[in-house]
Amino acid sequence: MIILKLGGSILTEKDSLKPKINLDNLNRIAIEIGDFLKDHDLKDEGLIIVHGAGSFGHPYAKKYRIGEPFPDSEYPKKRIGFSITHNSVNGFSGVISEYFIENDIPAISIPPSSIIKSSNKRISYFNLDLIKDYVFQGFLPVLYGDVVLDDTLKMTVISGDQILSYLAKNLIFEKVILATDVDGVFNKNPKLYDDAKLIKVLNSLEDLDSFDSTTNVDVTGGMFGKIQELIELADLGVESMIINAQTPSLIINALKGIEVKGTLIKSKLESFSG
Ligand code: ADP
Repeated sequence: MIILKLGGSILTEKDSLKPKINLDNLNRIAIEIGDFLKDHDLKDEGLIIVHGAGSFGHPYAKKYRIGEPFPDSEYPKKRIGFSITHNSVNGFSGVISEYFIENDIPAISIPPSSIIKSSNKRISYFNLDLIKDYVFQGFLPVLYGDVVLDDTLKMTVISGDQILSYLAKNLIFEKVILATDVDGVFNKNPKLYDDAKLIKVLNSLEDLDSFDSTTNVDVTGGMFGKIQELIELADLGVESMIINAQTPSLIINALKGIEVKGTLIKSKLESFSG
């Protein structure tokens, strides 16, 4: 099986204050995935898509401070904020699935708020059986960063990156691919420093010189949160790669297993280093 995460930075204008889709990227990526599936049967291969919320989630999650503790008196406002955020990301996921379906991909958008619960911002329940059943029947499940009920904070935001890492820990994947808007992980933020260098193989956060979590507006930790999830995953023996989805053909080539430019995140532990 393959898991492909499409970053909110790629599918939306992430820093826009209003939800805005990057239709050029979405269209091209849907075509690339559709082309890949022309020679690969979903029933044999198994592919799961997770996408970020970008400007469909972050502005609302921030406005209603979803994920911060609150007194019961604020429940009415929080509930509306939760509903607004979910409705926005859910609608966005519907549009993504529409583009997939147009390319003959049997996509089924599955709202994480309906199948996931968390405890202090970490996933504590995930209906994986449903996901597995869709994969076994040859569908392409589409999951995304969403709001969920949390048994300590009442409600929170779960990032696409956390969903990807949970799936990769609990199901068996041959490839874990994250597509974002930069070439991979650099020693420092490439959007702020011209001399930033791409790290081809990353083993730990210590490989980075400095860390400002992201230049994009992100309530779930940006690149820093992403790498933390992926290093934890690597230490459990699951390698992943970060690639740039702005470069045409990189996604289809990565899906095919052709070597592409990017960062490989693998464990520094001997037993997994190969
Ligand atoms: P996505 O929405 O695709 O999941 P994020 O916005 O969360 O992606 O993270 C990608 C962003 O992280 C990049 O646009 C980049 O500006 C920022 N970033 C910060 N530090 C680094 C770094 N050391 N290497 C690469 N990107 C970095």
